[in-house]
Amino acid sequence: MREDNFRKLAPYVPGIQPRFADMIKLNTNESPYPPSPKVIEASERFNAADLRLYPSVDVGPLRDALAEYHGFDRACVFVGVGSDDVLATIFQACFNSGRPLLFPEITYSFYEVWARLYNINVKKIPLRPDFTIDADDYTGMENGGIVIANPNAPTSIAMDKGEIERIIKNNPDSVVVIDEAYVDFGGESVLGYVDKYDNLIVVRTYSKSRSLAGARIGYCIANPDLIGVIETVRNSINSYTNNRPSIEIGVASIKDEEYFREMIAKVVATRKRLTSELTELGFHVLPSSANFVFAEPPKSVTAAEVYDNLVKKHIYVRHFNIPGIENYLRITVGTDVQVDIMLSEVRKMLGK
Ligand SMILES: *Cc1c(COP(=O)(O)O)cnc(C)c1O
Repeated sequence: MREDNFRKLAPYVPGIQPRFADMIKLNTNESPYPPSPKVIEASERFNAADLRLYPSVDVGPLRDALAEYHGFDRACVFVGVGSDDVLATIFQACFNSGRPLLFPEITYSFYEVWARLYNINVKKIPLRPDFTIDADDYTGMENGGIVIANPNAPTSIAMDKGEIERIIKNNPDSVVVIDEAYVDFGGESVLGYVDKYDNLIVVRTYSKSRSLAGARIGYCIANPDLIGVIETVRNSINSYTNNRPSIEIGVASIKDEEYFREMIAKVVATRKRLTSELTELGFHVLPSSANFVFAEPPKSVTAAEVYDNLVKKHIYVRHFNIPGIENYLRITVGTDVQVDIMLSEVRKMLGK
């Protein structure tokens, strides 16, 4: 066959999913805790015989539950198969002008992959030397859209809500997407601005703070016109996205606010301890508002060396071979026990 039949792409490379019984997996920002008992009950109640039927065409019950939970009309909510699916659909639906899409130079690397896949021009904006985002860089520059993860990944740093509002307000002609995958762990949500600005889309996921990465549930909230544009693209690809079990699980999770808050509090408490212990070992740890920390090891070792050493012990963290962050490690906040084992290996390695 001729080579020119095919697309050539550099895909997004997710963190590895090793399978060792003894492994400590701190590399893909999953929750170390199980989902709510209400989710477990819902999955046990699920009647597999119903699988002969297609699921609800607009993810109906889950869409309604999310609308009620966040206090929006259902017409403001779009649900997809993880927020990656939601984001990919937004990229296809909203960034078609030919003008460049703006996003930070260091951010969720899937943004660039989708931009290439859908032939979207891109302008990557450098971060400040301290890895923060300068809102001024996103005002007064012609663009065809803006995407910002808040808190940002993999830096873990959250941006002030007022700064984000300045970006939204100063770009009334383009869609501004705020990816709030980690917002439950300490960032300030801009959901409250959806009613005020018709160019804002807020994207959320069940994968991190709801301990449901395996269920593949993500959603976004925006004004009904934007949601309509996104739905049109989705309905041009696949009418039935979320499957029946995931819809029921998604509704059940929303109904257990107490458990949700409890798990987040545990992660935040462990994050605090992880940050102070790493700092004590000489790491430079960025101020995290997420369920992971981003840290540079002390001078005596490199991030790659720490990574390799931990892999030998079946402890997995994330290392990116990307200029500017090649000496940093992204470490997911695990349970206290997991974090202690990881820290003790690092201590040994440093001879401390
Ligand atoms: C994890 C993550 C996502 C995607 O999560 P899904 O599992 O597809 O919902 C999106 N954006 C950022 C910044 C993430 O870290």
